[in-house]
Amino acid sequence: MVVDLDYRARYFDNAATTPVDPRVVEEMLPFLCDSFGNANSIHEPGRRAMAAVELARSRVAAVIGAQNPAQIVFTAGATESNNWILQYFEGESGWISPFEHDSILEPGRRFGYRVLQNDGWNLSMDGLEDLGLVSVMSVNNETGAQLDVRPLARPAVRLHSDLTQQVGKLPTHIDGLDYASLSSHKFYGPKGVGALFCGGEPPEPMLMGGEHESGLRAGTLNVPGIVGMGCAAAIASEEADKNRRHVELLRALVLEEIAKIENVQLNSPPKSSPYIVSLSFLNVEGETLVVELDRAGYSISSGAACSSRSTEPSHVLTAIGLAQEWIRGTVRVSFGKYNTEAAALGLAKEMRTAVQKLRTMQ
Ligand code: PMP
Repeated sequence: MVVDLDYRARYFDNAATTPVDPRVVEEMLPFLCDSFGNANSIHEPGRRAMAAVELARSRVAAVIGAQNPAQIVFTAGATESNNWILQYFEGESGWISPFEHDSILEPGRRFGYRVLQNDGWNLSMDGLEDLGLVSVMSVNNETGAQLDVRPLARPAVRLHSDLTQQVGKLPTHIDGLDYASLSSHKFYGPKGVGALFCGGEPPEPMLMGGEHESGLRAGTLNVPGIVGMGCAAAIASEEADKNRRHVELLRALVLEEIAKIENVQLNSPPKSSPYIVSLSFLNVEGETLVVELDRAGYSISSGAACSSRSTEPSHVLTAIGLAQEWIRGTVRVSFGKYNTEAAALGLAKEMRTAVQKLRTMQ
């Protein structure tokens, strides 16, 4: 397989998605053409597929520190996992944080969840009852801010965390969590596959019509995707520490250079994942800066990819009280294992040039 490493090095939008690791592709390929059996069939090709799914289940359990692989249910991604768990606890006076991804916010609105009060990144326990589900993400996808749902624990409250931007990147332990959502394509696995960790009582299925996944999620299993997710999880378990150190270095290089620009601010709080940096430039449009950098060969984003076509100001930056003139000029740089020092310095240099140019044009 020929991989364009140069392009991967200049791709700084790893919070939107990551390229699939070639080792993952190698492991997936046999499950497309040769070992193509339906994992629920009882014949040999079916059993071979199911054995691969079960290996993937234990690798995914291991990367989040779950004791029992049976607690992992494969889904089509974190969006499905998030929708599913919020729907299951519908009407039980649940709470979500104001910083969540749309796949929590929208079902949250539909199913009557309330939004926790916040002071900056601190969440308040005001109004929490001893009932229902509380959902708080572990790493915010726009800024990298690290959050924790555990301090909100109450005797009969169930805790859920969207771990999408954490798994495979930072050490993850699901101790104390009842449910958690994961997505394969954020850690060098394929798109369209994810999981829900169910430490608490298994939720009623959202997708019905088959006995797959122990009756919890109907639909023929995406065997190549699940195999890919398992392989990506195994690689991450081995290499996440090395990758994190690499990314910390790149982040420091970029921030040092960016600090030389006037009227710039870092929105990521001190307690952040090193993988995501949110920066705001006064008198610059975030989208225009993204386009300028794209022309120069660097991919970054102006916010969450899922809402990057929306003209609404970011709900996350609004919730932490950032003024509109700063929100307008916000970009997200998200690092990954294929970025290089040279590319990080190149990005910072191009960013300085582009910001100067856009400010002069105003
Ligand atoms: N939650 C967070 C925090 C995310 O960043 C994303 C992806 N943008 C999702 C959920 C949705 O994940 P998926 O693409 O697997 O549906």
